[in-house]
Amino acid sequence: MPDESKQITLIDLQQEEIIRIVIWRSRICRYIFVVSAVWMIVAAALYFVWLGFDYQNTHLHSASFVLQMVAYAIFSVAFAVQLAIYRCPVCDKFLNRLSADNLHCTRCNAQVKAAR
Ligand SMILES: [Zn+2]
Repeated sequence: MPDESKQITLIDLQQEEIIRIVIWRSRICRYIFVVSAVWMIVAAALYFVWLGFDYQNTHLHSASFVLQMVAYAIFSVAFAVQLAIYRCPVCDKFLNRLSADNLHCTRCNAQVKAAR
């Protein structure tokens, strides 16, 4: 009896279509991370304004804390979305950006990025 847990379902896609899907998913993940970074920068700027100019104003300190918490929330959503959608369109394996060969899927060897 074959081991069914090892079987993978491969979806038949054209090469250009695979690359276009991965670029689109990568763009979504990147922009959510950028939004998180912008909130962190605004929170840091507000914190330094509070430290440098208006130390007595506790509302400014609270506002920078709230902006930091929003930034961390968006960052954790970005991480979860990346785990959910940044996957190989052919075999659905997670595409690790840090792997040595990030032009190809490590499971099905489909080319997922255009070579530069
Ligand atoms: Zn794959």
